[in-house]
Formats: sequence, C-alpha cells, structure tokens
Amino acid sequence: MYKALIDKLERDCILSFEEYLTLINGYKEISDYAAERASAVRNRIYGKRVYIRGLIEVSSYCKNNCYYCGIRAGNKNAERYRLTGSEILNCADEGYRLGFRTFVLQGGEDAYYTDGLLCGVIKEIKRRFPDTAVTLSLGERSTESYKTLKEAGADRYLLRHETANKKHYSLLHPDTMSFDNRQRCIKDLKALGYQVGVGFMVGSPYQTNEDLANELLYLKKLQPQMVGIGPFITHKDTPFKGFKSGSADLTVFLLSLIRLTLPNVLLPATTALGTLKADGRERGIKAGANVLMPNLSPTDVRKKYSLYDNKICTGEEAAQCLGCLIKNGI
Ligand code: SAH
Repeated sequence: MYKALIDKLERDCILSFEEYLTLINGYKEISDYAAERASAVRNRIYGKRVYIRGLIEVSSYCKNNCYYCGIRAGNKNAERYRLTGSEILNCADEGYRLGFRTFVLQGGEDAYYTDGLLCGVIKEIKRRFPDTAVTLSLGERSTESYKTLKEAGADRYLLRHETANKKHYSLLHPDTMSFDNRQRCIKDLKALGYQVGVGFMVGSPYQTNEDLANELLYLKKLQPQMVGIGPFITHKDTPFKGFKSGSADLTVFLLSLIRLTLPNVLLPATTALGTLKADGRERGIKAGANVLMPNLSPTDVRKKYSLYDNKICTGEEAAQCLGCLIKNGI
C-alpha cells in the first residue's frame, strides 16, 4: 500500500491529505523506497549536481522572542555579535575565492541592518562579482523594504513560514508575532519577483502528523522555489528547553516527499539535520535534497550564532567546511 502511494505521488506530484498522512504515519517502512524514487526524480531534473550556497550569519541580535530559538531577545546567555558591511563583504570575497557563487545573508531581526546598509552591501557584492546571486534571510520586514532590497539587486529570500497552522504558529511564538504577518511577507516576496524559500522545523513542539500532511499541501499550493526543512533541536536557554528534538529519520523522509511533490524545488540538506545525525546531510542528499549551505561566517562568531544546541561546523574555516562535505562523499 505504501509503495503504491509513493508511485502515485511520483506520477501525480500530489496526494490527498489522508494519503500524505498514511505515509507519514508509516514512514519507517517506506522511507528507503521514497528516497530511491525522490533521488531518481532529482537526478532526472538536476543530474547529480549539488548546489552549494555560502551562508553568512550576519547577526545574532534579534528583536523577536520565538520560543524555540537560541538567539531570541530574551536569552540573556546568548552571546551577541553583528558583522559590519565590510566584514560581510570580506566573507563574500573569501567565498568567491573558494568557488561560491551564491551568498546567503542570514541573521536575527536586527535594526542595525537598515535598508541603506543592506542596499550598499548587495550592490557592492554584485559590483565585485556580477556572476553571483544574493539571497537574504533576515526575517520579517515591510513591503517597502523588500521592494528596496530587490531593486538593489537581491535575488532570493528565505523566510520559513515555520508552520502552516495558525494555531500552531501561536504556540511557537509570542503574541507580538503573527501568522498573518509572516504570510503577508511571503506574499510580498513572491509578488516582488524574488525566488522564495519557505520551510518549517520537523518535530517542533505541538506539531502533529496531521500538521505535517498539511505542510505538504501548503507547499504544493504555494509553489516556492526553495524549501528549507530541518529537525527542531532543543536549545537549553529557551522556553522549549524541556521538549525533545525532532527526528532526523522523519526529516529525511519528508525531504523525499517534498521532492516528489515539487520535483523542481531547490531543497537543502540543512545544518540542523547534520547536527542531529553525523551523516544527516549525506542522507538528505541521498533522499532527494540537492543544496548544501556551508558556513562562510568568520570562525570567531560562528559559535555565537547558536539557534540550537551543539551546532556543527562552528570550528573550522570555510574552506575546511567544504572539504569536510567532500570528504563525507558529497
Ligand atoms: N530571523 C530569520 C532567520 C531565522 S534563523 C527569519 O526569521 O527568517 C533560520 C531558521 O532556523 C528559522 O526559520 C527556524 O526555522 C530555524 N530554527 C530556529 N531555532 C531552531 C531550533 N531550535 N532548532 C531547529 N531549527 C531552528
């Protein structure tokens, strides 16, 4: 029965809520076959090539208080740093030298990064390296700000929706944040012509398998260019410190379902997956993912961008980060 459902998904690129739920409930029995089919679909569209994006973690300051996140404003133990415009450009220089052609600027919501500062950085990256793409992942901003950044040359924006369930959203975030504003941002980004990435954590507190089935329907409807998913990982200095981390196996299975649902999507095997299981990212690639985001942040700040406990790749230089992925067979 499970095999027939995977075959149907490969053929139709969509299942009903009940069918997705059946697969998610029984995933342990069918994950190998799902990975095999998802890999075949990925190879047919993209070949064996894995896309590499250089991640520059620009700031660990954040005005928000997401209950799951280690850099939440309320975490008094968090070490804060922010990169200046010229430090970001140094990371891009180093990345370009190493062969990176996409830079992802990610950070907490930090008012230091005004539109003026960001536009300067984006334009300068594009001036120095016209053959690169600039991706932003700086949280919720105004419609006007997204527009200004797009006009300065930003190509893509990653903003995980975190959950497609409004009630669930309110259990993960304080009242100062809203599901509706997050969705407004995603709508704006699409309308402005960004290539948009959304996503969610697997195994976040209060998430059910029904929620996960709905995530797949949500993604199908939205048709984003990228989908970032990773396991929720407990951070000891957050209100969710008492919750268990999500499952790497289930995350890998969902990567396969996402590949089969959105065959053309860019799908990273995330650092969170590699943190939970040593071979997590490799398994993600084998199950249909096709993007890796090695860390290009300066080594001395990496530990401070601590979204969750025990994050990997916080020690070595960027070049070594790439080298270690290659060593692991990617
Ligand atoms: N401030 C930006 C970037 C957020 S960090 C924004 O709002 O988009 C990128 C992602 O890390 C978040 O979207 C969230 O899904 C994930 N994340 C945060 N805390 C996490 C945790 N404890 N475990 C796993 N992933 C986490």
